[in-house]
Amino acid sequence: MLKHLKVLLVEDCEEDGRLMLRELERAGFQPEHLRVEEAAEMRRALEGEPWDIILCDYRLPRFSAPGALELLQETGLDIPFVVVSGQISEELAVAAMRSGASDYLMKGQLARLAPVVERDLREAEERRSQRRAHDAVHRAKVEWQAVSDAVADLILVTDAERVITRGNRRALEYFPGGYEALQGRKIEEVLFGYNQPTEKAARFLEGMQSEVEEDLSFPNLKGWYNVASFPIACEGTQRAGFVFIIKDVSKRREVEEEKRTSDRELLTLYAVAFGLQYIQGPEKMMKDLLFQLHNMLQMEFSWIHLFERGRLKLQASLGLAPPFEKAMGSLARTTGWAALTLAGRPFVGNKPDDRFPAKAQGAAVEMGLCSWCSVPLKIGPEVIGVMTVGTCAERSYNVRDIFLLSSIAGQLAVLIENYNLYDKMKEKAEELYRSKEELKANLQQVKRANLELGRLNTVKNNFIGIASHELKTPITSILGGVEFLLKYSNIEMTPEQRTIFVSVYEGTVQLRRLVEDLLSISRLEAQGPLHQKKASNLMFLCKEAYELFTLPLSERRIQVRIAGDTDPVPVDEAFVVMAVRNLLENGIKFTPDGGEVFLTGRVMKRAEIKAITPTVRQFYHGFPHGLAAAKRYYLLQVRDTGIGIPADERVRIFDKFYGVGDIAHHSSGDTAFMSKGSGLGLSIVRGIMDVHEGAVWVEGDGQGSVFSLLFPIGEG
Ligand code: ADP
Repeated sequence: MLKHLKVLLVEDCEEDGRLMLRELERAGFQPEHLRVEEAAEMRRALEGEPWDIILCDYRLPRFSAPGALELLQETGLDIPFVVVSGQISEELAVAAMRSGASDYLMKGQLARLAPVVERDLREAEERRSQRRAHDAVHRAKVEWQAVSDAVADLILVTDAERVITRGNRRALEYFPGGYEALQGRKIEEVLFGYNQPTEKAARFLEGMQSEVEEDLSFPNLKGWYNVASFPIACEGTQRAGFVFIIKDVSKRREVEEEKRTSDRELLTLYAVAFGLQYIQGPEKMMKDLLFQLHNMLQMEFSWIHLFERGRLKLQASLGLAPPFEKAMGSLARTTGWAALTLAGRPFVGNKPDDRFPAKAQGAAVEMGLCSWCSVPLKIGPEVIGVMTVGTCAERSYNVRDIFLLSSIAGQLAVLIENYNLYDKMKEKAEELYRSKEELKANLQQVKRANLELGRLNTVKNNFIGIASHELKTPITSILGGVEFLLKYSNIEMTPEQRTIFVSVYEGTVQLRRLVEDLLSISRLEAQGPLHQKKASNLMFLCKEAYELFTLPLSERRIQVRIAGDTDPVPVDEAFVVMAVRNLLENGIKFTPDGGEVFLTGRVMKRAEIKAITPTVRQFYHGFPHGLAAAKRYYLLQVRDTGIGIPADERVRIFDKFYGVGDIAHHSSGDTAFMSKGSGLGLSIVRGIMDVHEGAVWVEGDGQGSVFSLLFPIGEG
């Protein structure tokens, strides 16, 4: 196969050039050529395209082989350069070879040209491949340096004797002396200085162990490290050296430590929050708390004081020596310790100082207390005690410790407060229970008494009813007889006899009235709310009642005026007449001659009830409870200009048989209405209003009394 060959001929003689090409063709080459005769042409040719070989005449009219060689070296190209010349001296040929020519031969010996070219081509190829290999090695080295510099870990490379040969950028950053301080020194010396490596570290450094599981610290480096070593296998040697990878894990350890601390704190808070049961009593609860704290946090001593009757009393403790416990048992408010507690802020110390009571200070030193921290127990701003923790170690309680202890103290204070409240509540509950039981018993008694009273009342009413009824007939006969004897018998009587007969007559009239009143009362009390009512004009009923008095009134100069709304009101007419009669009778009785009595009535809206409620409540406690619900009411009033009723008597005059003590209140009449009444009239009125589900009350208006009757009108 023809070998393609690009030949640059530096030759002024075209014929010589052709001879050389023919020689090459003969040897199996397929030359492609360019012939140049001077430097500029040659430079252009070299810049223009790649050449396999340069065949150069030694001497040209405007150029020479040494010039051409120089030019070629300037370009930096590696092209075999063969001097093919006429006759040149041996010295010149050697000089050309020294200057970088690959070979030289005489034009007369062209038969050697092909083998020379072939050898030069081969050597050029070898040089190129060597250069490629060298470049590849160099690149690989640079790449690996870049990789190791990019790694965040420290990488140190040593020889088999563990002498450092190389280190990445990170490693140089960690050692202050830089590369000079590392290179050529043994790795153990760099890491440990004059200190003896630990056994594990030593094994690792000697390459016996590729990894150390736990983190290491080195005297010559700050922080903590995770280490691994890898042997370098090289040219059949198993351990031509080692690569040490040292990872800085200080940050991770810091984070882990931080996590461990907060886990412990959280766990403590959790235990405190959920583990404590105040039901077992505050002492047990405090003991449990201290126990939990000792378990979770590192401490040897702890104690809790609470204020009790002005003194700070030790309530619970753990780990204390008896003399110290005794000295701290009960502290007056004036001691430094109590005063500090009362300030309501945490206080800490690094040795027992004079903040402790004198005796306690000595005992604390004896006990081995070194560092301590006290946090007050507070409910809002009130300080109820103090919790102290302490240790034999020399440490200072930092903000974080104080915060944790303060939160625990806060919870403890709440628990103690809860317990106290719970205790008080329990006491109150027990008291309440006792009262309830007593009340229950009393209620039973009242119930029984009520039943008995009810029974007695019925018996009494029955009795009164029967008795009154039985009395009515003989009284009527007596009255009839006495009246007949007095008025129509024409019997001669001495004045004394007449007086006796008149008083018998008056007494019997009074007796008849009493019997009638008693009968009315017993009937009303037996009666529930009325069911059969008749829509009546109350003004009309007032007139009817008034007419009963026309005769006796004529003897007293008292004006009675009746005027008001005539709207129908559902009532029992006979009862209403009876009520009005009683009120009218009282009005006349307690009004001096020349006075007036007014009977008025008006319809009221339900909304007006509110305005009269305070007044009526003096007579009916639950008013308007008990009053029939209705849209409208009828207010009937009997007003007189009489002597009035003292305010403090007004409620009681509705009681049975009640009469105002003052004799003036028995009557103001000189001719009629003189006698003291039975004291039942107003009770009957009240009874009548009860069966109407209405109300009666009295007010004074400065010159007399106003009796009011309130009737429900119903839905209309
Ligand atoms: P009596 O039948 O004794 O009059 P009442 O129950 O009707 O009994 O009245 C009780 C007492 O109320 C009377 O004794 C009287 O002192 C007083 N009283 C009643 N109405 C009037 C009144 N309009 N003015 C002054 N006092 C009155």
